[in-house]
Amino acid sequence: MARYREANCKLCRREGEKLFLKGARCLSDKCAIERRQYAPGQHGQSRRRKISPYGVQLREKQKIRRIYGVLEKQFRNYFKKADRKSGVTGEILLQMLELRLDNVVYRLGFAPSRKAARQLVRHRHVTVGGRIVDIPAYSVKPGEVIKIKDKSKNLDIIHAALKEVGRGDEYPWIRLNKAGLEGELLEVPKRTEIPLTVNEQLVVELYSK
Ligand code: SF4
Repeated sequence: MARYREANCKLCRREGEKLFLKGARCLSDKCAIERRQYAPGQHGQSRRRKISPYGVQLREKQKIRRIYGVLEKQFRNYFKKADRKSGVTGEILLQMLELRLDNVVYRLGFAPSRKAARQLVRHRHVTVGGRIVDIPAYSVKPGEVIKIKDKSKNLDIIHAALKEVGRGDEYPWIRLNKAGLEGELLEVPKRTEIPLTVNEQLVVELYSK
């Protein structure tokens, strides 16, 4: 299975903003964006060229893709599926990404980052509806209960993550039982309930050319 191997902080510096890919470090003064506010690479510090409308759309797509840690091909497939459904394509695209099991585990606060959440899933620490699911892209459905399996409940990474500021917060579309390390997806989140400052419409425009 192909995965991102590029350093997380480089991805943020490329986009020129925090994408919160590293948990607690992102909120500390060790964050690379706080230290070096220029793009990575040899020419990172030279003056930025004026960006074309296409460039703006491309950057927004890359930003969303990197936030969720999804590869280009997967991302395009999400878009194709979203485009086939009736409704607002950009919103449906974000909803599909939000419902990925790794993202739901992250939103529940069981991991400090989506990458760490993906590892929890892959290493078979997570159950959905009582069954182990080790596919990070699994699409969680309303009514399904996501739980850390009993044997994994003492994992330090989970308890450390839950203690982090902003982790394990409540979302209107998730019921969280912190003590039981479980949560239920109550409904598909509305766009206004997805805490992301991105313009998904730019992705729709990019892929609709
Ligand atoms: Fe991005 Fe977090 Fe690295 Fe800061 S610490 S650059 S927010 S991944």
